[in-house]
Amino acid sequence: MPQPRIIIVGAGFGGLAAAKAFKNTPAEITLIDRTNHHLFQPLLYQVATAVLTPSQIATPIRSILRNQKNVTVILGEVTGVDNDKKCVFVTDADRENVPIAYDYLILATGATHSYFGHNEFETFAPGLKSLADAEAARNKILQAFELAEAEDDPARHRDLLTFILVGAGPTGVEMAGALAVLVRTSLKSEFRRIDPASARIVLVDMAPRVLGPFSEDLSKAAKARLEKLGVEVRLGHSVDQIDADGIMVAGERIASKTVIWTAGVAPSPAGKWLKVETDRAGRVRVQKDVTVPGHPEIFVVGDTASFEENGKPLPGVAQVAMQQGRYAGKLIHSRIVGSTPPGPFRYFDKGSMAVVGKGFAVLQSYKVRVSGFVAWLAWAAIHLQFLATSSLRLTVFLQWIWTYFTGQRGSRLIVNHNGSQPAKAAEGTSTKTAVA
Ligand SMILES: Cc1cc2nc3c(=O)[nH]c(=O)nc-3n(C[C@H](O)[C@H](O)[C@H](O)COP(=O)(O)OP(=O)(O)OC[C@H]3O[C@@H](n4cnc5c(N)ncnc54)[C@H](O)[C@@H]3O)c2cc1C
Repeated sequence: MPQPRIIIVGAGFGGLAAAKAFKNTPAEITLIDRTNHHLFQPLLYQVATAVLTPSQIATPIRSILRNQKNVTVILGEVTGVDNDKKCVFVTDADRENVPIAYDYLILATGATHSYFGHNEFETFAPGLKSLADAEAARNKILQAFELAEAEDDPARHRDLLTFILVGAGPTGVEMAGALAVLVRTSLKSEFRRIDPASARIVLVDMAPRVLGPFSEDLSKAAKARLEKLGVEVRLGHSVDQIDADGIMVAGERIASKTVIWTAGVAPSPAGKWLKVETDRAGRVRVQKDVTVPGHPEIFVVGDTASFEENGKPLPGVAQVAMQQGRYAGKLIHSRIVGSTPPGPFRYFDKGSMAVVGKGFAVLQSYKVRVSGFVAWLAWAAIHLQFLATSSLRLTVFLQWIWTYFTGQRGSRLIVNHNGSQPAKAAEGTSTKTAVA
């Protein structure tokens, strides 16, 4: 008898956790992703600020699953789903919309940037979601210092050395802190005509405080720490305009050649593919067993799913995606082998963390709230634990120790994938880079 066919779309936190849960399942599993790597997004900002190299936060998917013989990995982009014929359509470099049939489907396609209806901002304020985004941001930041060093007119130094981050959630805060440390330590003694420490780092958000999901005292501690590092925190006003010369906020123009978008996210189009009910953000409303209403064979997990617990939707964080992916895997396994299925999905919240510069983090887990060095140690230990392989854990650990004590960074290369001449950082367009 043929084995059941399971398709998992997306090898991020949710999809990979689901694939691993099928270790002992008698099924043909196909894992499809448009990239060849599993990406540890929480450390993207460290690639953007040159602490880590791209290969330290991403691992080839087939290498992670090399010992799991029931999984076939396909590099391709899913473009749609036919719920009735039970197939997904996959496009790759050679072929378009090839149907692949399933008995069970898990969609774990994550989210992308949202510019809150201002898609025109994207050209001037690229986001941080993929390895290519992080490399492009790193190129842009490092090029700004190179251009300023070469610039004879000191009046232009200010614009070149002003870095703006739009969005004061965990990514914006972590990125601002890391940039402040970069300009005041690693780059300090390397330039002759400019002082990198004079760089202006501005963090802007319309919310009244940084790190919205954290408690008020931790939010205050993070803001105080940022200000101590020299970051200008501008809250309570949304950005009205972003162009090649900077931003407009609260009627004021802040001139800058480097603006990075660290604000909202929008889910993948899974809801449109399935033609099912979504929440206002576009996430697929799933039931208590993370299936789609009317389709017990279709599961949606992670950032692209809307799951309510205690009257509130679960947040778009890695733990939710991993736990839901694992749960969907266990439920499908139980159906295939005829064992007792797990009860409804329940999220186990292990807490939230954000790092603010060197040796300082905030940590919130139920009633425990800690800020400072101890929280930073916990942050480092937990992030190391969740990296995909032991080799990544070791290299990232050694890099962090090296950077902590010497200030030296893992990758300060400006890599122009379009040719040998230096790219124009000052144009405000996102540099066209790709990960080789
Ligand atoms: C910069 C940044 C920092 C973050 N920091 C934290 C943090 O500190 N802590 C935390 O808990 N969370 C953090 N998050 C959020 C966390 O990364 C997400 O919640 C988590 O990745 C969601 O997992 P997922 O499996 O739903 O999606 P993802 O991990 O995004 O995986 C989606 C996968 O689907 C693939 N895919 C998408 N569309 C298609 C398609 N059409 N065809 C084929 N493949 C497709 C993608 O290539 C990707 O591999 C951060 C996110 C970002 C962007």
